[in-house]
Amino acid sequence: MSQVKKVLVCGAGGFIGHHLVRRLKSEGSWVRGVDLKFPRFSSTDADDFAVGDLREQSFVREIIDQRFDEVYQLAADMGGAGYIFTGENDAAVMHNSALINLNVLEACHKRNIKRIFYSSSACMYPEYNQRDPENPMCSEDSAYPAAPDSEYGWEKLFSERLYLAFGRNLGIEARVARYHNIFGPEGSWNDGKEKAPAAICRKVAQALDGGRIEVWGDGEQTRSFLYIDECLEATIRLMRSDWTGPVNIGSEEMVTINELTDIVADIAQKAIQKNHIDGPTGVRGRNSDNRLIEEVLGWKPSQPLRHGLEKTYAWVNRQVLSNSK
Ligand code: NAD
Repeated sequence: MSQVKKVLVCGAGGFIGHHLVRRLKSEGSWVRGVDLKFPRFSSTDADDFAVGDLREQSFVREIIDQRFDEVYQLAADMGGAGYIFTGENDAAVMHNSALINLNVLEACHKRNIKRIFYSSSACMYPEYNQRDPENPMCSEDSAYPAAPDSEYGWEKLFSERLYLAFGRNLGIEARVARYHNIFGPEGSWNDGKEKAPAAICRKVAQALDGGRIEVWGDGEQTRSFLYIDECLEATIRLMRSDWTGPVNIGSEEMVTINELTDIVADIAQKAIQKNHIDGPTGVRGRNSDNRLIEEVLGWKPSQPLRHGLEKTYAWVNRQVLSNSK
């Protein structure tokens, strides 16, 4: 009889972690989740869920009390552009996330745990390669000379290097993904940490047919967005592969924020005008470069952006309706 896989998910109360726990449970693994909080929108599927602070070394040693087959480290102090790019949270973001990564790695090493997944971000790519909205460059090897446009990105870069250094010196088998804008149901949509897809879905859901919504900047900044189920598939494939370097996990279907708004308005079947206002917009252009992941894992997204937006809009719309009662 094959042994049941034991998995730890740090950040299991968050958006990606919560979905990941569900996916791992559906495969039959035994899962422990850890977070500052329980998931916000539905109950966790984890067999065991510990609420606590991963900045506390003693807590981290307590929850890493056995030899997990896989550890997914997703916990981070993060949010959308309104949280990361205003500068107001820089000290907290760097201090909190770096501490979590330092503690988790040390505790895993002491338990002789080998396989750890770390969720880095496209925010670690240099700002100077992302000024042309039509041609942003985000190939894995374009990371240096480093020049992320946020402290969040600098912390991700530091932590990527930390995981890889533990790999070189201490036998940790780190797997590092650079996520590009993951979205889907059960993510932040109205708490100041929401990202563009959820924010646009909420604004469109709240607007009347023929109404106006606010869009940050001129809306011509480009991005790509990856639906959560696609992200989980790529994450698990990377975790179980032999590839040791950082890999983009994202979509190459690049859109402007104006185009994103138009797709959501079309899904909602509403005529929507855009009111462009000042706001934190981040880099001018960003798109995933999937050449490496296709080559080493044979993975690419299976569905177009619109497919995920339909599901996400339906979910956000339900939240808006039930919150207005
Ligand atoms: P999220 O904010 O929903 O989840 C992160 C979780 O970490 C939260 O539930 C939070 O409570 C938890 N956490 C924060 N500090 C903690 C602490 N001190 N102790 C215990 N738990 C703590 O974010 P997400 O969208 O699920 O992202 C997961 C990971 O992927 C993060 O590392 C993020 O930086 C990375 N990432 C996400 C995206 C994206 O588009 N969602 C893009 C790039 C990278």
